[in-house]
Amino acid sequence: LSLHYQPLLNVRTGRAHGVEALLRWQHPDHGAIGPDKFIPLAEQSGLIVSLGRWVLERACEQALQWHQAGLGLEFIAVNLSPRQFVQQDVVALVAEVLEQTGLPAAMLELEITETALMTHAAQSEQTLQGLKRMGVGLAIDDFGTGYSSLAYLRRFPINRLKIDKSFLAGVPARTEDNQLVTTILDMAANLGLGTVAEGVETEAQWRFLQNRSCQFCQGYLFSRPLPAADLVSWLAAR
Ligand code: C2E
Ligand code: MG
Ligand code: MG
Repeated sequence: LSLHYQPLLNVRTGRAHGVEALLRWQHPDHGAIGPDKFIPLAEQSGLIVSLGRWVLERACEQALQWHQAGLGLEFIAVNLSPRQFVQQDVVALVAEVLEQTGLPAAMLELEITETALMTHAAQSEQTLQGLKRMGVGLAIDDFGTGYSSLAYLRRFPINRLKIDKSFLAGVPARTEDNQLVTTILDMAANLGLGTVAEGVETEAQWRFLQNRSCQFCQGYLFSRPLPAADLVSWLAAR
């Protein structure tokens, strides 16, 4: 197992402010296996608890090392799986890992999918409040694909919405996707939430976002998720 890192860039300046840690499994016989394949299995088998801890520890260690090296990144984003969010005492886990690694809480952002949050909304709210008190950043991942209660969206102490890449895929060719992305960006701005557009693959998509109130963008146009050493080279080259 290893972590790859993909930059999150300021839409206007193109500067990388953060990175998202994405898990990879290099299998001896089957080659590289994507997280979409094995995370659900890890959830079913219960391995997600130890796997989730390992990811968090590795990501925090790496972020602290980059911070100390003066790389200029402000945060590292780590994904939490739905099961992990419900089963594990996530607040205790995060507190422990921050303490153990020494990473400042403000440099960690946790990404939780809309579906995970909304399925157990009451419990989620408590967990999110606990994380918020610690000073950790919170983002809703794959926003727009699940079922969202707008009331909870206002109540949850969320910092950012990540607009799902399936919406970006239709931009700028499909009017409906343009309207949806614009509407989500306007809503986020009105609610005082930051935004990330995922899956930015073309210059046209980037221009579209530059003309709107989008905060960060992430996608193959800028960089694929990279091993740690390659990410450092990528940052240096920019
Ligand atoms: P996600 O958190 O929404 O991550 C974004 C996914 O989009 C990543 O896929 C990334 O490689 C991909 N992506 C980035 N830019 C582009 C682009 O321009 N075009 C396209 N088509 N795709 C792009 P990946 O790495 O395969 O991860 C898939 C999902 O697996 C993630 O979705 C996340 O939900 C989950 N995942 C990844 N790492 C972890 C982890 O450490 N823990 C948990 N619980 N889940 C993880
Ligand atoms: Mg994510
Ligand atoms: Mg996503």
